[in-house]
Amino acid sequence: MEKPTYKIVRNLNGDRAVRLENGTTIPAAIARSSCGPNKWLSEIKCKCRDCGEVFLLRDLGETGQRCEFCLHIVATYKWMGDSATATVEND
Ligand SMILES: [Zn+2]
Repeated sequence: MEKPTYKIVRNLNGDRAVRLENGTTIPAAIARSSCGPNKWLSEIKCKCRDCGEVFLLRDLGETGQRCEFCLHIVATYKWMGDSATATVEND
């Protein structure tokens, strides 16, 4: 199957989705686990919402929004009940 034209769109919460030229909108969480003829959806490159690094959609966690590293930070801070902003240090 030929790869259709698409755009990355965001809803009001900033969650992204893939909009195909026929108007179909596929949430990132679904697009990232696509396989078979739609496998290209999981290989769309997107930036992590927190650190801005570019990843394949399928590497952006369960929701297709953040990389595993940033997800881990969010999870840690939730667990600690700390509302402070996490700083990301690059090595
Ligand atoms: Zn990240």
